[in-house]
Amino acid sequence: MRGDGRHILLVLLDGAADRPASELDGKTPLEAAETPALDRLVAAGISGVTDIGPPGMPMPSDRAHGRLFGYDPDAIPRRGVLEARGLGIEVSETDVTCSASFARLGSSAHPSGAITDRSLSGSREQCRNDAEAIGAFETDSVSVSFEYTWKNRGILTLESEAPLDPGVTDTDPFESGLPVVRPEPTANADNSDAAARTADALAAYTRWSVEQLSDAASDIVLSKWAGMPTQPEPFAERHGMEAVSLTPKPVLAGLTDTLGMDVIDPPEGYDERAAVVRETLDTAKFVHAHYPEPDEVAHAGTPLEKKRELEAIDRSLSGVVKAALDRDLVTIVTADHTTPSAGNVVHSGEAVPVTIAAPTARTDDVTSTGERNAVAGGIGRIDGIDVLRIARSLGDRVLLDGLRRTPSGGTVPTTDVCPLLEEDQS
Ligand SMILES: [Zn+2]
Repeated sequence: MRGDGRHILLVLLDGAADRPASELDGKTPLEAAETPALDRLVAAGISGVTDIGPPGMPMPSDRAHGRLFGYDPDAIPRRGVLEARGLGIEVSETDVTCSASFARLGSSAHPSGAITDRSLSGSREQCRNDAEAIGAFETDSVSVSFEYTWKNRGILTLESEAPLDPGVTDTDPFESGLPVVRPEPTANADNSDAAARTADALAAYTRWSVEQLSDAASDIVLSKWAGMPTQPEPFAERHGMEAVSLTPKPVLAGLTDTLGMDVIDPPEGYDERAAVVRETLDTAKFVHAHYPEPDEVAHAGTPLEKKRELEAIDRSLSGVVKAALDRDLVTIVTADHTTPSAGNVVHSGEAVPVTIAAPTARTDDVTSTGERNAVAGGIGRIDGIDVLRIARSLGDRVLLDGLRRTPSGGTVPTTDVCPLLEEDQS
């Protein structure tokens, strides 16, 4: 078996999976949506559902993508590092980097400093000014710096000659009405002394930010997802494909960049974006076409609005689907998690639908897109970390189990082997 198999396209509809909605006659937005382009892929492929993480576990996009790309999420830097990289902020090997945001604290109505507004949608313009007041802080041996990025957000970096450790609790509980969380070392921190140093510095900075912002539009800088760089195996080595990621989301750009993919910030319009996907298919062996909108609409809108957004994406994809089928690509369509468009959970842990279309697929009887339609398909129910290997197999890109062509092993049918006889001749 040689290494040159079919190219793979991953159409990732972020948070597209959902729950039944009464306003959609008990269907989910994906089930209710008219999606002729995606339906063509479903008819040409195999479908099923996938637990992106452990069954029932709500997954954030970065860790979910890590598993869909075939990685243990713990081998990938935590989100603070990914966001910073995706926003073009350099991350050093020894610093701890957190995602940060301005927030409002309550007063008399919310004793104990509870958080009353985490988004500051009414005063985002002022956040840039507020950033000047909380940009640089020193405590003991640790320097803390805040870099404003967008909306009410920024990146917080802790730097020290002494070791730091990102195993600390988030000061941001990710929910309004709760108090600001005191930073503490987590039970599984790699270096508990270093984590205690990091937590103390974060606590001092966070208290200082409250003093500094006493007359500002915001009241505090919250932080979460502290991380340090790790060195995951590059995607091209793990899967034998040079990859391109088309994503407008900084955290995903940071992730795919960390895995060694070429990252393209795609145009905003769906038709323009589809044109870029088609162009990219000409050259890249693996294309990640990421659509964050279904998730965003689910967080801000209604099931009906999410259904319409999915239909708009589908309309733009007809040319991409035709190209994928004409060129005998392996095309994966899935979501990274379930985002309920009703209720107030962030994400939920239900399995998501997955379709893999390929000329080699033993097609099933599923012909239309949707969570419950997919259950009847040939894929059955699988672990998210296996999706890409199944797609690679349909693309003739997986080495026979048990063969050892290289010392490092792996599943790529590489032809780049160390020759015995040529070595003897030289
Ligand atoms: Zn989301």
